[in-house]
Amino acid sequence: MPVPFLDLPGQYQNLKQEIDAALQSVISRGAFAGGPFVEEFEKKFADFCGVQHCIGLHSGTAALTLLLQAYDIGPRDEVIVPVNTFIATAEAVSILGASPIFVDCEESSGLIDVSKIEAKVSQKTKAIIPVHLYGQPADMEEILNIAKRHNLLVFEDACQAHGALYKSKSMGSLTHGAAFSFYPGKNLGAFGEAGAVTTNDPTIAHTICMLREHGQSSKYHHDLVGWNERMDGIQGAVLLVKLTHLKAWNEKRRSIAARYKKELLGVGDIRFITEKPDRTPIYHLLVLRTAKRDALQEYLKKHDIQTGIHYPVPLHLTKAYAHLSYKKGDFPIAEHLTQEILSLPMFPEMKEEQIEEVCTAIKNFF
Ligand SMILES: *Cc1c(COP(=O)(O)O)cnc(C)c1O
Repeated sequence: MPVPFLDLPGQYQNLKQEIDAALQSVISRGAFAGGPFVEEFEKKFADFCGVQHCIGLHSGTAALTLLLQAYDIGPRDEVIVPVNTFIATAEAVSILGASPIFVDCEESSGLIDVSKIEAKVSQKTKAIIPVHLYGQPADMEEILNIAKRHNLLVFEDACQAHGALYKSKSMGSLTHGAAFSFYPGKNLGAFGEAGAVTTNDPTIAHTICMLREHGQSSKYHHDLVGWNERMDGIQGAVLLVKLTHLKAWNEKRRSIAARYKKELLGVGDIRFITEKPDRTPIYHLLVLRTAKRDALQEYLKKHDIQTGIHYPVPLHLTKAYAHLSYKKGDFPIAEHLTQEILSLPMFPEMKEEQIEEVCTAIKNFF
């Protein structure tokens, strides 16, 4: 039995009636760009995160970019980001003309290593963007303390962490602002591209609302040079339906993760990205570690089991950032993890037999 990495068609089948009705109402009302469905989603998602404002946008990348821009991050500024993240975290910084400053990660959790942040703070540093990688909250208390000592802004890259908790607080509510992605494969996924910013700052919320719509304060009155980064009405409607299932889906992911760990701990040299105390991760990805990663991935592929590597190249070694002149060895932990990590199939619709299939194949490999 083939096991996909995730099963979006399967998820749609489970929600078909609700989703079809939602899509139909967007079409019959002609509410395509922004509009009532997006507004309703913004209210519901703000409540879900426990924040005052949510601004629906076209992607998580737009959310990161507009959030930084609203706080006036630009040329001459430095922003601290983990080196082992999806490129969008750093890209948003670069697009605004600012410089991403990379920090290595912790070996056990893969999260930004807070003990290495302060050494990277300079006169130019404006902000830190911790990433709640794989759905596990970063060390927010320590990061907020560092920011306080150096008078820095903190923004969460919460693109993998919809509903994850840190000391019972929801991701997206802990800092000056957070970016979420609703890319189809995320825990809360649209039918195309979508994202959002959450913040408790009304001025910032207002600025981002202007920026997403060509800097408009009212129709065709442009106070800023902005972007076209609105959320589509269809995405707002789909996300409204899916948001009602998100808590249950996250629970399901946690139980699948527990199941994998129970089956696979002690098999070969397998370890898992560890859970840290005081937080509830939502397992956007379930990541194991083994020195035989490449061979294992190849073996699983032959047995029709899809896996992924998040991410195969740490940002300092990408061509996109070659101009920063980093070299191999500059971020040894991230470089090491990159060789060992493997993301297993993980989606809430996963059947018992599919989990069994993956675990049996891995045991057979070892
Ligand atoms: C998905 C993701 C993004 C970007 O989101 P898009 O909606 O694809 O633009 C940014 N950061 C992280 C950590 C992500 O996983």
